[in-house]
Amino acid sequence: MSRKVALVFLPSDSGVDGARSLYDEGGDSGPKRWFNGAVRNLIKKTQFAIPPLALMILASVEVPGVEQSICDLRFEPFPFDRKWDLAGISVQTGMAGKAFELAARLRARGIPVVLGGPHATLFPDSCRPHADTLVLGEADDLWKEVLRDLVAGTLKREYRTGIPPDLSLPRPVSRAALDPGRYFTTNLVQTGRGCPYRCDFCNVHVLNGHALRKRRIEDLVAEVARFRKDDRRIFFFVDDSINADPAFAFELFDRLAPLGISWFGQATTALGQQPRLLDAFSRSGCKALLVGIESIEPSSRDAHRKTQNRTEELAGNIKAIRNSGISLYGSFIYGLDGDTLATPAAILDFIAETGLDVPGINLLRPNPGTRVFDRLREEGRLLFDPDDLASFRYTFGQEMLYRPKNIPLPEFIESYAELTRKVFNIPNAFRRGASAPSIKPAVLLFNLFYSHLYGLSRHDLQRQLERL
Ligand code: SF4
Repeated sequence: MSRKVALVFLPSDSGVDGARSLYDEGGDSGPKRWFNGAVRNLIKKTQFAIPPLALMILASVEVPGVEQSICDLRFEPFPFDRKWDLAGISVQTGMAGKAFELAARLRARGIPVVLGGPHATLFPDSCRPHADTLVLGEADDLWKEVLRDLVAGTLKREYRTGIPPDLSLPRPVSRAALDPGRYFTTNLVQTGRGCPYRCDFCNVHVLNGHALRKRRIEDLVAEVARFRKDDRRIFFFVDDSINADPAFAFELFDRLAPLGISWFGQATTALGQQPRLLDAFSRSGCKALLVGIESIEPSSRDAHRKTQNRTEELAGNIKAIRNSGISLYGSFIYGLDGDTLATPAAILDFIAETGLDVPGINLLRPNPGTRVFDRLREEGRLLFDPDDLASFRYTFGQEMLYRPKNIPLPEFIESYAELTRKVFNIPNAFRRGASAPSIKPAVLLFNLFYSHLYGLSRHDLQRQLERL
């Protein structure tokens, strides 16, 4: 009889899978509660609900005598009614408390629990008491060992490797463990891992290293062709900077062009100065890109080591990308260490000048494990107990985790609310939808949803301020 393994993905308290109020949703009643719930489900369905790629990769590992399922708890409660021989939970820091609770319930039923993912890798000591086994680091190779040991009855307490997996080895990703109808698309592809940059608020380079490790182009082309056969929806290249290696990206997208897919991904604004690559992106079906602008204040970029593109080149690069027919989601962070109360006006001018299709106005999130978290802790600027790691949860601009350097907290929250009110409103949503270079309906919808989500953000920040 085969061993049954559940790979568990936990929903976050808030965020793009359908933000909810962090403070008083339970108190809402009647039409308001119904409306918020309906919008959340719509967001899940139409925009953001994409499968957990890390678990898809693990579910693709085949070991004789093992059957793996993905349990995505955004859509269903954990199926305790089925018999499980092992549960693997991917732990994000902000969800660690929930992961530990679930682990306790599973272990109380005699189901061994493996904890892995970013939080387990960065903070193994916090996970050890809650797990039978820890998997530390990128699990692509380790997971086969775990499953073999499960079959042999020799599960160890800990699996870790000093060397990140060699991604140039063929590792076809299977989607057999997914229910495709739940997701916006199942066409998720990762071309490589690692980031050469060192932005201090980011843990990608901490977790995946600075060297770019790439998959082989022939494996990627084969994967895209295979995925396209049974899911004709849009592709999402999940790499943080799909143009980090322009020569590699050119060859890949040049070879993907004949397949006739549509895709979106994430890139640096340097793409605006890479005309050959920009052309390959357009020819291969690129419809939209997310670019991390983060800040247009040079002092903020320096303070947070965001050094890979220069402020004075940003606007020109963004215009060049949009002129090639690609819509842009431009992500800002307000509240960085060089920001002042004059920054919101500069952000508004920048959005107007560049015509960004979907702006994202984020709050700095000092995630435990990043340099900025350590620095803010040393400076006494964190608003939560630094040892209570789970309190640094993922939210959609709904909670302040620290005190900005140059702006008192009440004024900061007021200015953030004012900024988001000016950026996200119904007239702006229609105007941006109409002028987007591609996927106009999606741009309109995104902006309409953001009008709702930033409303939640303003409400929750105000509630938090009253409690501080
Ligand atoms: S924010 Fe982007 S560019 Fe900066 S370190 Fe993280 S992944 Fe790299």
